[in-house]
Amino acid sequence: MKTAALIVAAGRGTRAATPQPKQYATLGAAPVLAHTLAVFLDHPRVDLVAAVIAEADRPLYDAAIGCGHAKLVGPERGGDTRQRSVLNGLRALKSHAPELVLIHDGVRPFVTPAIVDRVLDELQHAPAAIAAVPLADTLKRAGPGRRIEATLDRAGLWQAQPPQGFRFEAILAAHEAALAAGRDDLTDDAAIAEWAGIAVHLVQGGEANGKLTTAEDLALAAARAGGEAPDVRTGQGFDAHRFAPGDHVWLCGIRLGHTHALEGHSDADAALHALTDALLGAIGEADIGEHFADTDPRWKGAQSHLFLAHAGARVRARGGAVSNVDVTILCEAPRIAPHRDAMRARIAEILGIDVGRVAVKATTTEGLGFTGRREGIAALATATVALR
Ligand code: MG
Repeated sequence: MKTAALIVAAGRGTRAATPQPKQYATLGAAPVLAHTLAVFLDHPRVDLVAAVIAEADRPLYDAAIGCGHAKLVGPERGGDTRQRSVLNGLRALKSHAPELVLIHDGVRPFVTPAIVDRVLDELQHAPAAIAAVPLADTLKRAGPGRRIEATLDRAGLWQAQPPQGFRFEAILAAHEAALAAGRDDLTDDAAIAEWAGIAVHLVQGGEANGKLTTAEDLALAAARAGGEAPDVRTGQGFDAHRFAPGDHVWLCGIRLGHTHALEGHSDADAALHALTDALLGAIGEADIGEHFADTDPRWKGAQSHLFLAHAGARVRARGGAVSNVDVTILCEAPRIAPHRDAMRARIAEILGIDVGRVAVKATTTEGLGFTGRREGIAALATATVALR
C-alpha cells in the first residue's frame, strides 16, 4: 500500500536553549531533522516523505536537506499549533494519494526501522496503530505543595509515541472534523482518531524513540551518536572527455586557458564528474548519467558544480557527511599545479566542507594512452563519507 511519512518539525520550542530550533541542532554529523528523515527515506516500505516546517526555518531546512531525495516532497508549511501543522501536511499529501500515513516528530531521530515495521504490520489489519511503551515508573498524583495524594494504578497504562499510523483518508477526515468542531485540545493524532471513533491499536515502541526536548537530551543524544562507530563508506569515480577546438577547459570548477576545449554535453569538467560519481558511489546511488542524463536539454552546457552540489546534498539527506575527497587529473597539459589551491577551495565551497578535506593532484601518463597523446583529459576520484 502506498505509504507516506509526515514528519512534524514546525515547533519553535526553546527549552533546549540551542541557538536554533532543536530539530536543526547538530547531532553527530548532521542536523537532528536530517537523521529523523533518513530513517523514513531509507525505509523500504515508505514511498513518500514530507516534513512540515515553520516558514521562518526554510533556510535551516534547505541547509539540512540540500536538494533532496527521490522520496522527499515538500516541505509543507506549519500552523500555529501542532494539530494545525499536521492538518496542513495531510492536506498537502492528499495530491499524492497515499493509502497509509505515518505521522512522526522531527525531534525523535532514534526511531528504528523495526518500530516503523511494527506500526505498518499492525496497520495491515487494524484501522490505526501507534508505537507506545508500557509505563515503567510509578505514578503519583500531587496536591497543594506537591504533596502526594495518591499512588495510581499503572496497569494497562502506556506512553504514546510516534510514529502513529492511519488510513490516510480516515485521519485527514478526522482532523478536518476536529477543526470544524473546534477541538484543539487533542494532544496527539491518536487522540484525534479516538475522538472520531477510529479504533487505535498499540505496538511496542522503544525507550530510545524519545523526544529530544532539553539541552540535556541533546547532549546525551550527541554523546550516543558520537559513541557509535560511524558507518564509513568509500566511493570511486572515473571520467574522460576528448579535446575539441576551443581556448579553455573547466577542471574542478576552475576555468583554465588552454589550446583546446573539452567536448561534452555539459561543461565537460571531467574532474567534477569523476568526483560526483565517487560521492554517489559511496552512498550506493546511481551514477551521474542517471541523475543528469546527457540527452536532457536541461543539462546542455550546464556547469558541473550543480552535479557535485547535488551529490553532496544526497549525502546530507542520508544523514551523512563528507569525510574527504581526493581527485587525480590525468593530462599532459594544461599544467594543474598552479591552480591546485583554487581547485581545492572551489570543491570545498561546492560541498560545504573544509578545504583540508579536499585533495587535488595531477599526473601525466608519460606520453602513453589517449591522455599521453593529448587527445583528451581523464580524472579519477575517491570520496569517503560517514553516515549516521
Ligand atoms: Mg563526464
